[in-house]
Formats: sequence, structure tokens, C-alpha cells
Amino acid sequence: MKRILVCGAGGFIGTHLVRSLRAQGHYVIGADLKFPEFSITDANEFYQVDLRNQRSVTRLFKKDIDEVYQLAADMGGAAFIFSGENDADIMHNSAIINLNILHEMTFRKVPKIFYSSSACIYPGHNQLDPDNPIMSEASAYPADPDSEYGWEKLFSERLYKSFERNYGIDVRIGRLHNVFGPESAWIGGREKAPAALCRKVLENDRAVDVWGPGTQTRSFMFIDECIEGIQRLMASDYNQPINIGSARMISINDLVRLICKLADKELEINNIPGPLGVMGRTSDNSLIQEVLSWEPPDNLESGLKKTLEWIDVQRCGQT
Ligand code: NAD
Repeated sequence: MKRILVCGAGGFIGTHLVRSLRAQGHYVIGADLKFPEFSITDANEFYQVDLRNQRSVTRLFKKDIDEVYQLAADMGGAAFIFSGENDADIMHNSAIINLNILHEMTFRKVPKIFYSSSACIYPGHNQLDPDNPIMSEASAYPADPDSEYGWEKLFSERLYKSFERNYGIDVRIGRLHNVFGPESAWIGGREKAPAALCRKVLENDRAVDVWGPGTQTRSFMFIDECIEGIQRLMASDYNQPINIGSARMISINDLVRLICKLADKELEINNIPGPLGVMGRTSDNSLIQEVLSWEPPDNLESGLKKTLEWIDVQRCGQT
């Protein structure tokens, strides 16, 4: 049994990760600005703290920790990341969290950390063709992410690697690709495409509005596969950044059609102007197959069904 600190334990992935670590018998300490929104945390101890505050981070690390999972970040879906209005917060808040955590890990000699990076670090110019995005790990440089969120993630990847080099911290970096599932944000502006589209399909009886031409492609990984990938990476000896994502590419309009089918609804699609991001993105899983002899299985349909059902329950709870 390890003593594990999960930063961002009140968020979507953090909530699921804490649950999984606890089920494996570990002692889990959770930290976040907020408690999980949709369930009671499974953490043994949970601290509602601002990780931008060095003193709060210092207090957390007094707890004798074997491993850290660092998921805390100021983030959201396209509406949050691409509006331009949140750029300073995204860069400042997430960078300072990572700086604080590394400072304290070095001081306390905590040996190992998982850092959640993102597909958003990849160069925008390699993602213009919806059918052939280039997303191999090696294509990250020369760097040219299409958002400040991506630049901060790339900076922090380098930050973690430099602490590994200079202070001997063992680092695992997963570049996560579009994760979806129950207990993710589904309303309010920070929700990502799958949850937003599930909500829109449930809300409407005639048509749904979809941002952009709808031909833009993405891949979507169900939360259970994400948690498994993170833990497989953490258990491995591979210490370079690696994609953890689904390799099944689907256009956004086809995603809407799939959600409609699962919800048993026939809706028109209105493609309207809106925050768009790159035209094509999927996970290149060659490296993860080679290194971990595993890749996230494709559970898009079953995952969407669970997500739809969960959002439907949330909507009913609101009325
Ligand atoms: P999330 O927003 O649900 O979780 C992030 C958590 O960090 C939130 O609970 C938030 O309150 C917390 N946080 C933010 N600022 C904080 C602060 N100053 N102090 C303490 N806690 C703070 O997001 P998520 O989907 O669970 O993502 C987790 C991580 O994975 C993030 O780093 C994100 O960038 C990365 N990621 C997620 C996806 C995805 O599709 N969900 C894809 C790529 C990368």
C-alpha cells in the first residue's frame, strides 16, 4: 500500500483516479480547490486548498508521500481555452501549481510523479487536415501549439523533465487526448465536446447547434481507459512524454449522429460559427503499443451511452 497524493482530486479525472487507487488498497490524500461536484470523494483525506499557494502545498507535503499524481490545472473545453479571455489565468495558474509541487517534492525528497499533459501541446500546423493529423510524440518539436493552454503544458513537461535531470525525481508524463465520461463538466462553459453534445441532444427535439463545419475530427477516450493508461504508465519504466488516447477518429457531425442514435432521436445539425480548435486530432498510439504493449480500447459507443444516461440524470436533478 502506497501513500499517494492526488492533486486535482476534485476534478473529473481526479475523482475517478482516487476511486481506482483506493480500490487497489492505497492510502489516498486528495487536494483541490473544490470537492468533487457529483459524488463524495473516496480519498482517505481530502484538503480543499489552492495549490497556487506555496504554503498550502508545503502543508500537504508534510504528510509523508510515496507518489504524486498531478492533475490540477485551470482548464476547460474549447469555449474556455480559445476565447482568449482566460489566457493569462490558464498560463499563470497552472504553471505556478506545477512549480510549487516540484519545489516541495524536491525539498521533501518525494521520489515519483505522474504529470497530466495534453494533446494540445502538438503543433497546430500538423492538425490542419481532418483526415491526417500528425500526432506522434516526436512531432511535438519544433513547437507550435495552437493555444496558451498547450504552451503551458509544454513548458510544464519541460519543467518536470528538468527536475528529473537535476534533482532525480522520477517523472511520468501522459499526453492525454479528449477524455469523456460520467462526472465530467456537462454545463456552464467548461464542458468539453462529448458532454456538451450529449447535453444538447438531450435538450433539443428538432436540431442541435454544432460549432464549426462539423468536419473537424477528434478521438475520444472513455474515462476508465484513461485511468488504466495513467496507472500502466506509472507502473512502467518509460519516462518520456507519451500519448494516452483513443486512435478512433470521428468527425464532430458524425459524433452528433452517433449520440442521436444512442439517444434514439432524429435531429438536424446546424453548423454555426464558434470556438473550433484544430481541424484534425487523434492519438498516434504507435509508441504506447510499443512501450506498454497496450493502447486504450475503443469504447466510444458504450462510453457515450453511459455519459448520456448520466447527463440525463443530472438534467432531471436540475428541474
Ligand atoms: P478538471 O477541470 O475536472 O480537473 C482539474 C482540477 O484542478 C479541478 O477540480 C480544479 O478545481 C483543480 N484546480 C485548478 N486550479 C487549482 C488550484 N489553484 N488549486 C487546487 N486545485 C485546482 O479537469 P480534468 O478533465 O479532470 O483534467 C485533469 C488534468 O488532465 C488537467 O491537468 C488537464 O489539463 C489534463 N487533461 C485533460 C483532458 C480531458 O479531456 N479531460 C485532456 C488532456 C489533458
